[in-house]
Amino acid sequence: MPNAPVLTDTFGRHIEYIRLSVTDRCDLRCNYCMPEDFRDFEEPKDWLNFDEIERLLGAFARLGLARVRLTGGEPLLRRHLPQLAQRIASIPGIEDLSLSTNATQLDKHAVALKAAGVTRLNVSLDSLRPERIKTITKRDVLPDILNGLAHAKQAGLAPIKINMVAMRGTNDDEIEDMVGFCMEHGFILRLIETMPIGKTGRNTAYMDLQPVKAMLASRFGLIDAAFPGGGPARYLATPDGRFSVGFITPISQHFCATCNRVRLSVDGTLYLCLGQENKFEFRPLLRDGATDCELDDAIRLAITYKPERHEFLEQPDKIVRFMSMTGG
Ligand code: SAM
Ligand code: SF4
Repeated sequence: MPNAPVLTDTFGRHIEYIRLSVTDRCDLRCNYCMPEDFRDFEEPKDWLNFDEIERLLGAFARLGLARVRLTGGEPLLRRHLPQLAQRIASIPGIEDLSLSTNATQLDKHAVALKAAGVTRLNVSLDSLRPERIKTITKRDVLPDILNGLAHAKQAGLAPIKINMVAMRGTNDDEIEDMVGFCMEHGFILRLIETMPIGKTGRNTAYMDLQPVKAMLASRFGLIDAAFPGGGPARYLATPDGRFSVGFITPISQHFCATCNRVRLSVDGTLYLCLGQENKFEFRPLLRDGATDCELDDAIRLAITYKPERHEFLEQPDKIVRFMSMTGG
């Protein structure tokens, strides 16, 4: 059997994972992500359609892509998302299809997404207090999120990870409560350091998670744990392995040397790094009749644009786009 294809960047990293933003719109306005008055959305004519997405991801998969995450903006706002999920899950070479969502509408879509081939699920949840969720997201949506989570669990989506952006002075007093909530429901918790992406990211009080890691280890008797999947999180777990908490620490301990991913925005722009401007536009190629061979060459070229690392510490003002535009 021939060796599996591998897409390798200039620094020897294997790129096998795409985060696909299916929309830049969102029903929430999280403090650290999208400004409340933001209106500068992509026009529908510029969105990649499902045929274009399938063709482009098919080309990536020919060259070594194995995993896709649907994200946004809020991916559940894109109409007929389960149909797209099913088409992506059927692409030869794609072994893993996952979804990141704020879960406000997950109750309506969980069963169809599971049937379409989505397995793993990440849900953003920064607080368990209704008033705080309202302050952070600008909408009173905690009951909807919890209902969405219940439906996801019932539909058999697994594992379910809770993404909590840790913000000093906003939700830092709730981390232990969130551990308790995740233990009770069988969710994996992931704590995330705020990144200076857009003015929203820069204006949100950053919190170093290294002391939190030490505190949780001692408070809950957690030990270092390996976690399959090659993602950026470093994990602690209970000795019986039934609960784990991951720490995504782009600022206090960056993980660029093992970065295996790129991000495709809704308009077909491939972003090579969250913290750099390097990008490649695929929409013109897809709409101007590029052959499969030309598409493959363009992908190989685009991957050479991937920079070695972000510079969030050295150049915190560099990235003006918001996370919702790139596909976080
Ligand atoms: N709307 C979906 C959601 O909230 O899960 C998917 C898109 S959202 C942009 C993906 C992830 O990016 C979320 O977990 C969110 O918390 C995270 N995020 C957004 N802005 C961020 C920032 N400035 N720093 C760190 N994480 C951020
Ligand atoms: Fe929307 Fe997700 Fe950004 Fe919050 S983090 S504004 S839910 S895209």
